[in-house]
Amino acid sequence: MSDTLQKFMFDNSLVRGELVDISEAWRQVQLLRAYPPAVSAMLGEMMAAAALLSANLKFNGTIIMQIHGDGPVKLMVVECDASLVLRATAKLADGAQVTEGASLQQLVNLHGEGRFAITLDPADKLPGQQPYQGMVALDGESVSTVIENYMMRSEQLDTKLWLAADLQVSRGLLLQKLPEEGGTTSGLSDPDADAWNRAVMLASTLSHEELLSTDIMTLLERLYWEETIRVFEPRRPVFRCSCSREKVGNMLKMLGQEEIDDALADLGKLEINCDFCGKHYGFDKVDCTQLFATPTLAQAVQPPGSQQH
Ligand SMILES: [Zn+2]
Repeated sequence: MSDTLQKFMFDNSLVRGELVDISEAWRQVQLLRAYPPAVSAMLGEMMAAAALLSANLKFNGTIIMQIHGDGPVKLMVVECDASLVLRATAKLADGAQVTEGASLQQLVNLHGEGRFAITLDPADKLPGQQPYQGMVALDGESVSTVIENYMMRSEQLDTKLWLAADLQVSRGLLLQKLPEEGGTTSGLSDPDADAWNRAVMLASTLSHEELLSTDIMTLLERLYWEETIRVFEPRRPVFRCSCSREKVGNMLKMLGQEEIDDALADLGKLEINCDFCGKHYGFDKVDCTQLFATPTLAQAVQPPGSQQH
């Protein structure tokens, strides 16, 4: 099943899991830009990780994974909201050479100065409320190791991830051990204590190639055919960009009038292309004057002739 996120639970145990396949949405991300294979693989793995985390954390908002790299990759951003709407982009350094099979360290942490932040941006933010941002240590050779460490530190939960992506598909498996005590597990009188070890051991037999080439329901069956597994309603990850003229206007406004006036003097008109979907936004002198003169952004970014009085 393509573009599916499947949650499951080991019966009578404290182990839960998720499998995700992102095919069509991943193709749409790559339509805009062709990345070197190693960059594509890492960005795809981050997409799968973002979807798995979003469904796992039950957080009503957007998860933003952002890496500022110090190697051939300058920036990687993946966003996933609570309904599994994803977007992603990567930016390479000028003239960057990426070797095939380059590791995470070689791509974004060449000099040990790469930074990885995971931001949880609530959908129902109160005015002035800031999103929660956590810095993630870039200590590992793969996206899965880095995220496993992050989950251990931030959620204190044993979490294991298997991720793989190529130009066609991005897939991932997440396993998580729930705490022994707590509301979610109080119903179990005698939980299967060994289930976590079995689940992880079996998943560890999964090869990178197998994860890339097998649909997720077949994988679930193949790995855990001896276990009693409960599956939940499948969900569907999709690609959609949340950019808008209003948001671009907001960003320009934050740069300040002086900066914008300088840019207008140089360029005549500001041409902004969305990094995630390629959509073009143009702001000429009149648009920018309105941006800084009008009381609300919504009014400022309305196309000419549609102002309300
Ligand atoms: Zn966009």
